[in-house]
Amino acid sequence: MTHHHDRDRGGHTGWCARDHQCGLGQHRATPVRLAIPGLGGAVLTRIRTTDGTEHAEIRLSIRLHPHEPTARDQLATLLANLRTLLHLTHHHRPHRRVA
Ligand SMILES: [Zn+2]
Repeated sequence: MTHHHDRDRGGHTGWCARDHQCGLGQHRATPVRLAIPGLGGAVLTRIRTTDGTEHAEIRLSIRLHPHEPTARDQLATLLANLRTLLHLTHHHRPHRRVA
């Protein structure tokens, strides 16, 4: 992985995995996987989209309780925590832009 240049002539980022998706103007890093046996797992991928903005794409799989309404409660808990996660990540910016 290179650190001295953020992009090369192809417009790739230093973390780009350089797979076929680059041809579509989107750059994707090699996914980082997290697995917790019995609970579920997550796959996190850093992406630069065609408009130049960067995103963390997360695919999350969490085992649900086999019975209602426990499974539904778990989903509600999950949604609430995803909202918290979005806010936490958004506010954690050491180089905040000064409008
Ligand atoms: Zn690329």
